[in-house]
Amino acid sequence: MTSHSPLPALPPDVHTPAYVLDAKALARNMATADRVRREAGCKVLLATKAFAFPAAFPDMRDHLDGTTASGEYEARLGREEFGKEVHVYAPAYGPGEVERLTELADHIYFNSPEQMSRYLAVARSNPKVKIGARINPGYSNATLGGPLYDPCAPNSRFGTTAAEVDQLPWEQIDIFHAHSLCESLHDGSVGLIDHVAKNFGPYLKRVKAVNFGGGHFINKPGYDVAKLIAAIKAFRATFDVEVILEPGAGLVVDAGYLVASVIGFHTNGARIAILDASASTHMPDVLEVPYMPPLLNALPAGTRGHDYILGGKTCMTGDIIGEYAFAAPLKVGDHLVFGDMMQYSFVKNTTFNGTPLPDMAVLEADGSYRVVKRFGYSEFRGRLG
Ligand SMILES: *Cc1c(COP(=O)(O)O)cnc(C)c1O
Repeated sequence: MTSHSPLPALPPDVHTPAYVLDAKALARNMATADRVRREAGCKVLLATKAFAFPAAFPDMRDHLDGTTASGEYEARLGREEFGKEVHVYAPAYGPGEVERLTELADHIYFNSPEQMSRYLAVARSNPKVKIGARINPGYSNATLGGPLYDPCAPNSRFGTTAAEVDQLPWEQIDIFHAHSLCESLHDGSVGLIDHVAKNFGPYLKRVKAVNFGGGHFINKPGYDVAKLIAAIKAFRATFDVEVILEPGAGLVVDAGYLVASVIGFHTNGARIAILDASASTHMPDVLEVPYMPPLLNALPAGTRGHDYILGGKTCMTGDIIGEYAFAAPLKVGDHLVFGDMMQYSFVKNTTFNGTPLPDMAVLEADGSYRVVKRFGYSEFRGRLG
């Protein structure tokens, strides 16, 4: 697989591996968020689960209403590094977590009648905290990974089901929350909004806001943003509620790279190039989803050229990124640029096998290249106790 994006202008001596945010591409994505907020009259939050990159927050803050967190640490990150609103949801909270969250988050969401009854009073101890209830709307549209990424898959642990929805204390609930999409285009977003409108009307009339979760892939080519805007406007007109979206991937899709170097070769039925980047440690979704990431240096899929299987330097047999064709033979030291590498990449990386962590860097809009952080042995050693 290849990508239509041109190669970014990186310094010839770029230190690899490196995750590189493309500030121009991020600005393009933020313009879409601005448009949705302005034209639909809704709030848009960043789900930091997908993209927790504080160096980018100054370029995002003015275009978003805040962040949404998956627990205490992300809520603290949102509070300390992003500012504005902090929302938090977890399928269950740990001991003392809700109490600490009342200092960090202004919107706390509960997953079930069990969690709501256990923690509602604790959350209410800060009168400024708004209470959300996550509902399992029974609407599946996840386009990625099948049931692995479908919050409404059978036996999913996410959200109160229709069977239990009347056990929630609706007079105490400010926000109805339904997250059921994953890398969904406008048909998924509009489908979810219509499904909730049709099936949950009596509950919507009792809340002040409705949060349609993440998975809205608003910056993916093919996503018709006008359709999303029309659906939100119609929903707001019918139910007279505030509407919130909390995408992660949809805000940073195609906004950066993972740059790797070829460090060696092997032959075993095919030519194999070994990289200083690894699927297992640096792009785990390549193995988990699984998918073959776009490689900007490669020839289009199916083109005859110099073929290589690209693999990581870990000792895990399955640490294979994919097979790609190149216009010329690869050499040690060649830089390879994987595209669309911002969401769910560095937030999930590991130092397995003693693999060094990639730099965190920004290719600024003026063309300058800024290394935000370089890691070393201490990051490997530090997490071993
Ligand atoms: C993961 C998640 C999001 C963000 O999802 P994306 O697919 O990255 O847009 C938003 N809300 C909740 C509750 C989530 O679990």
